[in-house]
Amino acid sequence: MYETFKPVNRILMGPGPANVHPKVLEALSKPTLGHLDPQFIQLMEEIKALLQYTFKTNNEHTFVISGPGSLGMEASLVNMIEEGDKIIVCVGGYFSNRMAQIAEKVGGNVVLVKENWGRAISPEKLEDALKQNPDTKIVAFVHAETSTGALSDAKTLSKIAHNYNALVIADVVTSLGAVDLFVDDWNLDVVYSCSQKGLACVAGMSPISFSNAAVQHIKNRKTKIKSWFNDFNLLEPYWFGENKRAYHHTAPANQFYALHEALSILKEEGIENSWKRHKENSNKLISRLKDELNLEPIVPTNERIPHLLAIKVPDEIDEAKVRKDLLDKFNLEIGAGLGDLAGKVWRIGLMGYNSNEKMVDYCVDSLKKALN
Ligand code: PLP
Repeated sequence: MYETFKPVNRILMGPGPANVHPKVLEALSKPTLGHLDPQFIQLMEEIKALLQYTFKTNNEHTFVISGPGSLGMEASLVNMIEEGDKIIVCVGGYFSNRMAQIAEKVGGNVVLVKENWGRAISPEKLEDALKQNPDTKIVAFVHAETSTGALSDAKTLSKIAHNYNALVIADVVTSLGAVDLFVDDWNLDVVYSCSQKGLACVAGMSPISFSNAAVQHIKNRKTKIKSWFNDFNLLEPYWFGENKRAYHHTAPANQFYALHEALSILKEEGIENSWKRHKENSNKLISRLKDELNLEPIVPTNERIPHLLAIKVPDEIDEAKVRKDLLDKFNLEIGAGLGDLAGKVWRIGLMGYNSNEKMVDYCVDSLKKALN
């Protein structure tokens, strides 16, 4: 006999997942509905409207992929790219590199705009690449690169891409709900996110939104979409079928209750207030880390993701030991560096429910003790 699993109540201050709001956890335990139940369809309608609010978009095709952020990434790329299409992927970290890998796997003719890890994507480099590749159909980038803590200027990158008649795919996995994001105003054609960071929800759902131009692009494809699960045309009748919804897959009903609750909580706070809260708490964390521990983010001030900091580990410190001590002695999880930054940074997140002063204090006080 196995006993009921009893996870410890960790404080999750890494790059995600972040702690889930208690009301969201409560929502998970409500009775399960079938994926075509009229009450469940009503819930889907509300989730779509709440996501339009959260993304700041009127895009009709705003919905959820039942899977993690990576599946949303794949859904965006596989629907938008046809064999041989030229796509520029701006790569300055681990997740933008994943975008490039998927773009290649689904048949794209991938051109990389390379940026140093820890820096925002240079708009000039993108413009140069577009000048050299005027046949580019799509420009893809990560808004908030979680592996490095760098926030790119999505508005400017999108404007440049559209000047050259390219459509834009933006990864907003770490940005949604936590930092300024205006999908319509910035003309982002496809955006996808996750549930486990700024939304303070459980992992495993990927909110996604397609502009009318993106939908037209998909409808005008000459070749089949190289995916079954992520085929926009097959998902559409489930999320948008008029009068009647058609089965596509068994949606994770209880997870959707959780997402609905998380989005409702965010709406009640007000998206702008949430962005402000994330900035303020981050500023407090940055000042305390600098003043009391002489620790600093690797990213220049005006290029930082407010709520996810990549902090430079001092040379003499064994970074893995500090993380282990934080976990063992303080029940606190922070993130390690990924890829080029492995062993060089700690990644500290103040996301969603965790973005508050108590967490700032707990993190700094625990780090102080672990470093002594
Ligand atoms: N894109 C970014 C910027 C991320 O930070 C992550 C995960 O942290 C992903 C994509 C992938 O999301 P998931 O782990 O939910 O598949």
